[in-house]
Amino acid sequence: MDTQGQTKKVYLQTFGCQMNEYDSGKILEQLHALSYHRTEDPRQADLILINTCAIREKSEHKVYSLLGSLGRIKLENPGVKIGVGGCVAQQKGEEILKRVKLVDLVFGTDNIFELPDMLARSDNGERVLRTEWHPGNKKIDNFIPVFPGTRGQETPITASIAITKGCNNFCSFCVVPYTRGREVSREPDNIIEEASRLVGWGAKEIMLLGQNVNSYRAGQTRFVDLLQRLNGLEGLERIRYTSPHPKDFNEQLAQAHRDLPKLCEHLHLPFQSGSDRILKAMRRNHRIAEYLEKMEMVRETVPGIALSTDIIVGFPGESDEDFHGTLQVMDAVRFDHIYAFKFSPRSDTPAADFPDQVPERIKADRLARIHELHERTLKEIHRGLVGSRQEVLLEGAHPRESGALIGRTRGHKSTTIPGCSRKPGEIVNVEIVATRKFSLVGREVGRGS
Ligand code: SF4
Repeated sequence: MDTQGQTKKVYLQTFGCQMNEYDSGKILEQLHALSYHRTEDPRQADLILINTCAIREKSEHKVYSLLGSLGRIKLENPGVKIGVGGCVAQQKGEEILKRVKLVDLVFGTDNIFELPDMLARSDNGERVLRTEWHPGNKKIDNFIPVFPGTRGQETPITASIAITKGCNNFCSFCVVPYTRGREVSREPDNIIEEASRLVGWGAKEIMLLGQNVNSYRAGQTRFVDLLQRLNGLEGLERIRYTSPHPKDFNEQLAQAHRDLPKLCEHLHLPFQSGSDRILKAMRRNHRIAEYLEKMEMVRETVPGIALSTDIIVGFPGESDEDFHGTLQVMDAVRFDHIYAFKFSPRSDTPAADFPDQVPERIKADRLARIHELHERTLKEIHRGLVGSRQEVLLEGAHPRESGALIGRTRGHKSTTIPGCSRKPGEIVNVEIVATRKFSLVGREVGRGS
């Protein structure tokens, strides 16, 4: 209710990564306290917010085009407020206010907590811009949600917690250090409290988020120490994390995957390119031989661990030989999952101005070859899993197969279980009976541990 006792509605559209989804939860939390309820229809809204992402290609262009269509709602109903937050807002704040007169507020990634004040100012006719950083502000960094249901996640069974924000690495292709600032680690007690609250609301699995998650360090608490503490949390079944950096991946962390029962046997470790020359131009701070040694070490420590990665093809200056190096790494590691992208320049990053940009058709051809190789490998990996026993955390009904439930193995493989009468949130043991292009099919053989 507002001061006149009326319920208000907010329409919030989120773009981008899990970190942005997490931030949208914080936005909704702020608005919930101001009696806003979420609506999926922007025409019903009193407040329209876009939480933007600068990672994807032409992101800025997409924001302006979306503002154009949402702005028509404001022309029909001038009482509606329009706000833009997130990474594009952080980068282009003033420009957005200048270019789109219908926008009432623009706020950066560190300014979500100023929303109540921004809205009050906007009520007084001010157009508000807030993109200042608040380094070391514990109130902001250690925020814990109070209301279940404001998290913006589809299922409460798997929940995310950001344990760091920002990044100090300055990879030459990435906007994150500019849009999210320098790296800050949250207090461990505060993270445990958030995890306990989420478990109390029904979460079984927690995904720890950070741009360089394994460089987490708060006082004497390192990333592995935090994992150990979370492993002791009653009611929590599984822990995952994303995205770690190869330079900070070490033996202790590999051993944690072996020794902590709740930490899943899945590691997502981006390698980006199989060429040392390109890694240097990317400013990735590691060499490919080191990466391969670490992958071998983790496989020896945790046999059967599922491995996934990020790959960029067509980085400026990437020759056929460099690209061949990437294919060789894929052949050597045999990833369970890959996220592969063509390089595309992001405004304000050094790589955008590098010479020797690779022509679009070569990038497209290289990307297709990456996917082809991955699909061949995956087919073999999945074939090898048929007949194996897997523990699956059930997440919900299959969207297209009636009577089937869907969940994930500890290796993060999506698994369909036809005719399963269990409930989402339960863990079941299944025997893998068939494979699909990117997923598995299982038969329930009992309740999991
Ligand atoms: S480590 Fe990740 S988030 Fe940080 S600059 Fe590099 S790519 Fe960006």
